[in-house]
Amino acid sequence: MNEPDPAAGASGDPDTRPPTGEDHRRHLLRAVELAREGSSRGDGGPFGAVVVLDGRVVGEGWNQVVATDDPTAHAEIVAVRRACAELGSFQLVGAHVYASCEPCPMCLGALYWARPAQIHHAATREHAAEVGFDDSFIYDELALPPDRRRLPARQHDLPEAVQVMRRWAENPDRTTY
Ligand SMILES: [Zn+2]
Repeated sequence: MNEPDPAAGASGDPDTRPPTGEDHRRHLLRAVELAREGSSRGDGGPFGAVVVLDGRVVGEGWNQVVATDDPTAHAEIVAVRRACAELGSFQLVGAHVYASCEPCPMCLGALYWARPAQIHHAATREHAAEVGFDDSFIYDELALPPDRRRLPARQHDLPEAVQVMRRWAENPDRTTY
């Protein structure tokens, strides 16, 4: 994990130059390598991800859904968790996220919350669908009204649920994100 990135220099000083096409390619190839290694071990699907901040790899992940019995252990989520732990932050402002395949809606949502600067991916949701990972289906579901989705969602009136949020919003000491 988190092998030193040769491009960052031996000192580990932040590399603030904009990433080049060669940088993008190198990190994407690393994501593919993680996908290959993880899926060969039987950890999960063939997906890998790398988080890079200022030229330094701060988190790597691969799909571990099968190995950990965790449906959320997608490569990007694992990489984001590791990067945030490494940085001691719940956000990845300025980071570039490299994924071997286009993020599914869950991972895309997680990446919005993590707020990196840019997402780079190689294979597409159509490629994922070809091998049985129907991310496209979930993307299509999102466009439907909640009660027409395959997984229907129903709203229930419960004032306590709103109160708990309003109390939080009124607390001047809260940490926003
Ligand atoms: Zn995902």
